[in-house]
Amino acid sequence: MTTLPDTLTAALADVAVDTVPPGIEAGLVVEPHTAEDLARIVRAAADHGVAVTPVGSGSTLRGADAAIAVVTGGLAGVIDYQPDDLTIVVGVGTTLGALDDVLDERGLSAILPETSPDRTVGGVVATSSSGYRRLGYGPTRDRILEVTMVTGYGEIVRAGGRLVKNVTGYDLSRLVTGSLGSLGIIASVCFKLWPVTQQRRTVTVDDAGAALVETFRPVAVLETEAGSTVYLQGDPTTMDEQVRHLRGDAVEGFTWPDVPASPVRIVMNVPPRSLTAAISEVRAAGVGRFVAQHGVGVIELGVDAFDESLVDALRSWAETHGGSLIASAPGLTSAQRWGAPPDTIEIQRRMKHLFDPAGICNPGVLPGGL
Ligand SMILES: Cc1cc2nc3c(=O)[nH]c(=O)nc-3n(C[C@H](O)[C@H](O)[C@H](O)COP(=O)(O)OP(=O)(O)OC[C@H]3O[C@@H](n4cnc5c(N)ncnc54)[C@H](O)[C@@H]3O)c2cc1C
Repeated sequence: MTTLPDTLTAALADVAVDTVPPGIEAGLVVEPHTAEDLARIVRAAADHGVAVTPVGSGSTLRGADAAIAVVTGGLAGVIDYQPDDLTIVVGVGTTLGALDDVLDERGLSAILPETSPDRTVGGVVATSSSGYRRLGYGPTRDRILEVTMVTGYGEIVRAGGRLVKNVTGYDLSRLVTGSLGSLGIIASVCFKLWPVTQQRRTVTVDDAGAALVETFRPVAVLETEAGSTVYLQGDPTTMDEQVRHLRGDAVEGFTWPDVPASPVRIVMNVPPRSLTAAISEVRAAGVGRFVAQHGVGVIELGVDAFDESLVDALRSWAETHGGSLIASAPGLTSAQRWGAPPDTIEIQRRMKHLFDPAGICNPGVLPGGL
């Protein structure tokens, strides 16, 4: 555990808390309640050259040893909700479950990951996480209109805009989405919302690949080790016709599979056309549990422990087919996590330096160990 300079702990005494997030070691845990608190924390850390690790629900951070863990629970809640404009601004500590509770009342959704409702908006945006409805709605990143963040030098900046088409110049909210806290700490996010119907069907089918081609606008087509499922929503008569056409068994509502993703998460990304072949590869490698998204090209593996030879073999297969594999587990090296550094590593290094000149924002978290 990192021991911090006394001047730093004294400067942050008013935001320090005793509760350490489960599974995480930390020299100091702080809990900001405003973006200004957050800016002061980051400035103090940068002045002392001490790293800060933002922590949402901490699902990807088990085993982490943080110098300063910045828990985001104090940054939870709705900041501005405009249901008629289909936008909502929330603090990053808001959990997905709490956000759904607010939006459900007006039949709206930000279409974020469907399972594990304890995860936070900040964690989801920082990892650019999408849910199973990506086939029907596109990735989460497409619904992020604006991000307010504190840079690594402690300045509060707002990137993007709350109108759906309002960005001039570089779209910095896209840059921050998926940056894993390496450019700064996000304080709040504005999402574009979608009206969603409760008329839904989960349909069990024999062949997911064929169902993807034959179904009109499915929300998701998933395949797991247990079978294949098509997710439909909308007009009941049209859905019933589709269910008959698919010759599947339908139940009302959406029932989502859940692969245990903590503390080990392994995801293969391949071109959608290579998904069926990738599933065969995963089965042949002896992986017992998986969820594959047809039409998207993502396969999440359900493994309990990190197995280097399995990861190397599946990564090599994915890369040969134009894809990638990302592994997250406590104690992995950057190469084990991401594979070889990307060609753009030098541009990324300069970009990180621009936002985080002292190199204190989640150092080492990006591909290439940036
Ligand atoms: C690379 C990666 C991709 C993933 N993709 C998906 C996916 O597509 N679909 C899916 O369902 N799950 C995905 N996951 C799983 C992931 O656990 C969750 O989607 C989500 O990040 C968990 O939320 P959390 O609150 O537990 O985040 P945490 O585990 O607390 O944090 C996740 C990461 O984000 C950083 N972070 C947290 N809050 C902030 C903030 N306010 N500002 C800046 N950085 C912050 C953390 O330091 C950490 O690096 C992914 C995980 C990783 C590591």
